[in-house]
Amino acid sequence: MDFDPPAQVKPLLDKIEAFVAEHVIPLEPHVFEVGFEKAAPELDQLRAKVKAAGMWGPQLPKDVGGLGLDLVEHGLVSERLGRSPLGHYAFGAQAPDAGNLEILHKYGSAEQKATWLAPLAAGELRSCFSMTEPENPGSNPTIMSCTARKDGSDYVIDGHKWFTTAADGAAFAIVMAVTDPDAPAHMRASMIIVPTNTPGFDRVRNIPIMGDPSSGYGSHSEIWYRGVRVPQSNRLGPEGAGFLIAQERLGPGRIHHCMRWIGICERVFDTMCRHLTRRKIAEDKTLATRQIAQAWVAEARAEIDASRLLVLHAAWTIEKKGFAAARDQVSCIKFYVANVMLQLVDRAIQLHGALGITSDTILAYYYVHERGARIYDGPDEVHKMVVAKRILARYASEPRGEQVPSGGAP
Ligand SMILES: Cc1cc2nc3c(=O)[nH]c(=O)nc-3n(C[C@H](O)[C@H](O)[C@H](O)COP(=O)(O)OP(=O)(O)OC[C@H]3O[C@@H](n4cnc5c(N)ncnc54)[C@H](O)[C@@H]3O)c2cc1C
Repeated sequence: MDFDPPAQVKPLLDKIEAFVAEHVIPLEPHVFEVGFEKAAPELDQLRAKVKAAGMWGPQLPKDVGGLGLDLVEHGLVSERLGRSPLGHYAFGAQAPDAGNLEILHKYGSAEQKATWLAPLAAGELRSCFSMTEPENPGSNPTIMSCTARKDGSDYVIDGHKWFTTAADGAAFAIVMAVTDPDAPAHMRASMIIVPTNTPGFDRVRNIPIMGDPSSGYGSHSEIWYRGVRVPQSNRLGPEGAGFLIAQERLGPGRIHHCMRWIGICERVFDTMCRHLTRRKIAEDKTLATRQIAQAWVAEARAEIDASRLLVLHAAWTIEKKGFAAARDQVSCIKFYVANVMLQLVDRAIQLHGALGITSDTILAYYYVHERGARIYDGPDEVHKMVVAKRILARYASEPRGEQVPSGGAP
């Protein structure tokens, strides 16, 4: 077993690491101060530099202008990009566009690819994914009120969605809507492409996240769809295949997120360790001399490294054996890595004292904007439940005789 990054991507990883440090992180204070929308010119310049350096779209297939990396290779890239909240955006690898690109590439018609996939892959426009509804449980989206009714050659969509990430400024939404209410639960909904300038598409607001509504790419919107009419040719994939396609979108997406979170962990770890070795708590002593701080450093180191191994192993399993073989692993990394990251962010803030809750370090940004990690793409509780159920089902189906206590044997 070789734990070195694959030789073919090592130079790229080094190049990305240097680029993020030199060009991406220095832009953060400006973007955080004016917001994503107003910082668009600088962000566009940054993207142009990435393209000029031949690093655009690491996860994108080569036929749409990307680098065509596999899931393990892109996972390693995603960690490096994750060192900045702007990293994935700068390289054209950001959610939700990355997932939308993937399903458009796999299920899009020739016309959909020409109209939406090509400009999205080139970074000329943005998209969003509109599934969750305020009135229904997002963790069980088979309970869905949004409908798409056939009328002539069109669909007419009515529904109420929220937490549609990056809808502000997006050119189109991929909307999940019920197309056959009488079908079995997992075959009721379809995905439909809706240009955001279609009459009846009403983006009500950017939802404040712990007080910050953000803007543009960095926001999450509430949207009403009122009699939104689009041609049936805007449906992505077969009718009723919405949940199947959503599952495919989420598998690699969770690898991308988890590796991004590991990038966040490494940045926070650096920030925390630098602070510990510089902050004096007595005449001749820094915080680094305190046992509680030392324990948190050691625990973080072990947990980050464990996370990386788990996620890369899950990515490797998907690549070699398919998503079905990696289902338990993907659920485990989703809740495990999210918690490792959030505990580390919280501890780093604690060790920074008052400084930790200011915007003078990156920590408060992560505290606010990454808390959602334990909720989106499946809340912790749901992932734990499905993994445990599958594991216990395997034990329950064992021959009963093997379960009898052996009277004192270990
Ligand atoms: C930052 C962020 C970005 C998002 N982006 C998007 C997006 O782009 N597009 C989109 O469509 N949606 C998006 N979402 C929505 C996200 O998918 C949902 O929030 C998620 O699926 C959970 O649904 P819910 O919020 O309705 O919570 P609910 O389903 O109401 O669940 C609430 C809580 O109940 C508990 N729970 C739920 N089910 C179970 C169970 N079976 N067993 C035990 N406990 C349970 C969990 O603790 C859960 O957190 C985003 C959310 C966040 C936070």
